[in-house]
Amino acid sequence: MRLCPLCPIVLAVVPVALLLAAAPFAQNATPTATKEWGVHDLKRPQPARVTAGTCTANGCTAPSDAIVLFDGKDLSKWTGNGGDAKWAVKDGYFQATSGAGSIKTKDSYGSCQIHIEWMVPETCKCESQHGCNSGLFFMDRYELQILGSNPNETYVDGMAGAMYGQHPPMVNPCRPNGQWNTYDVVFHAPVFKKDGTLETEGSMTVFFNGVLVQDNSKILGATAHAAKATYSAHEAKLPIGLQDHGDPLCFRNVWLRPLAN
Ligand code: MG
Repeated sequence: MRLCPLCPIVLAVVPVALLLAAAPFAQNATPTATKEWGVHDLKRPQPARVTAGTCTANGCTAPSDAIVLFDGKDLSKWTGNGGDAKWAVKDGYFQATSGAGSIKTKDSYGSCQIHIEWMVPETCKCESQHGCNSGLFFMDRYELQILGSNPNETYVDGMAGAMYGQHPPMVNPCRPNGQWNTYDVVFHAPVFKKDGTLETEGSMTVFFNGVLVQDNSKILGATAHAAKATYSAHEAKLPIGLQDHGDPLCFRNVWLRPLAN
């Protein structure tokens, strides 16, 4: 049998050439992959310009791209028991009104950054879960506990900064009754598959008076009292709620920035 003199070279070179040619296509094989930018690429789009809010003795105002849920004047963005939110609006803040029921936003939200300031009036007597209790509810079911906790001993997964019944806060930076507290939260909504099973659990990162108390803590399921939390599928966007636990807690400067999941 006569061998072609160049065949061994061709046989060696062709596969390498094919691999090199295929490499760029392999990099772009995932159609959903974001465009990759070079280091310090000047063509990379600039982030949107946002004017930051300001913090004074009256709390922290919203950045320019936020949805303001309470601007100190009215509860027009909120709803109560089948109608208007019947909590009292006072001088730049609003107050939970016993018997008026919990309130929630008229609009629905998924993942978001939220800022809220809350205060337990000085006259309140906190005894464990009684006297100083409210709660910030994401998607109508995932509670970040609001509770007078300086001083007030209770079970730690139910104190201020706790994801109720799930994760205690890492530390307790709560201010005494009569002083305003702030929560700055990054909430990521859980994602469900088409068949209703959980694809990705939700999470919360919480700064409490500027102090990190929840660090990407995973949500274990819908908040439950004295029971293990479980997930059940729900809409991708749902209202944000504030709990009426019968105690006259005050709130101000509530704003939110929707986030991608
Ligand atoms: Mg509560």
